Amino acid sequence: MKVLVKQLPIGFSQFASNTMPRQVNRSLLFQLVRREQSISRAELARVSGMQRSTVSLIVEELIADGWIVEGAMGKLPRGRHPMFLKINNQRAVIALDIHPEHMVVAVGDLSGKIIGQSVIKLPKTAGQAIQAIIRAVGGLIAANREKRFEGIGISLPGRTDLELQKLIFAPNLRWPVPTIKARIERATGLNVQIDNVANACALAEVWFGYSDGLHDLVVVNVSEGVGAGIYANGQILRGENGMAGEFGHVQVEDGGPLCACGNRGCWEQSASNRAGLRYFNDIAPNRGVTTFEELAQLGRDDDPAALEALGKMSRSLGRGLRMIALALAPREIVIVGDISGVWPKVGAEVEKEMCRDFIARPPILRCAYDGHEARLRSAVALVLHQRFI
Ligand SMILES: [Zn+2]
Repeated sequence: MKVLVKQLPIGFSQFASNTMPRQVNRSLLFQLVRREQSISRAELARVSGMQRSTVSLIVEELIADGWIVEGAMGKLPRGRHPMFLKINNQRAVIALDIHPEHMVVAVGDLSGKIIGQSVIKLPKTAGQAIQAIIRAVGGLIAANREKRFEGIGISLPGRTDLELQKLIFAPNLRWPVPTIKARIERATGLNVQIDNVANACALAEVWFGYSDGLHDLVVVNVSEGVGAGIYANGQILRGENGMAGEFGHVQVEDGGPLCACGNRGCWEQSASNRAGLRYFNDIAPNRGVTTFEELAQLGRDDDPAALEALGKMSRSLGRGLRMIALALAPREIVIVGDISGVWPKVGAEVEKEMCRDFIARPPILRCAYDGHEARLRSAVALVLHQRFI
């Protein structure tokens, strides 16, 4: 016998009942099948608290819509042999993780597993960049003809107005992308969901079950810039024009380095990948280190200059996290981004700085186990979230 799930996913456990709207029940059952990987109808009824008849109806609907399939026959000591249900992994999502100078395109299945990915350098103009995206998506569809694609999720370093579906604020992107959604949808015939990378990662933490969805959570993306996604009271906090979470542009240093937003001394100028690289090149000029990945590798190899630079970046990161922790009091803060590759070397320093002289119990600090894939998985979550909520 399988071990029963102990907790319902995506913050629904407190609401589960037979009078819930059908759409919510459908989402809940899909989540349970996804999370358990293989579960019978009887177990679903027991775990969800729904009546067997309700479960059966919704399961038939999910099978008819192709979201789940019947798998192996279970074995019980007596009586009928239940048919186990599992996610239909022939269905997939195209995930795009956009950075200022490159993007990562991948195929993700409905479990959030990243199947294949490639890195593409982005041209500088908007028109060329959108063409490059369309070509990459076309290539993935052609290479995965056996899959049925649900849509395209795009996580990017900017804030989007969800109602208008336009980019509001993206100081680190060199090209404006207000029409990206419409143009890609037209060219591919697939629905496109776009959101800020930190918001998308917060959604993925809840959707794919690393966080229980019941507690407040902040995801901080440390990359070319620094941005936060806030999950509070069961939803992403978006703020006016979708601008909530721009802690990276809080000025922490008078007359500090010029930021892409036009101001000086923003937090991201002292805590982002770019800041780490700048510190390293100040400490050890002429070493020819131009990318954060090279710096992280030197850090993993215990290069003293790299550790000094990463240490300075980490302390600044920790100081900013203290501001977030005190302002929002989340249960946990999750770090995503390239810094995850060097977290064993810097995590303790970040946490020490965050917790310094804390006036209450500080949040749990953890790093997404795979920063790179976490961003891709977040793009998958955008599409699934739109289909099920
Ligand atoms: Zn700024």
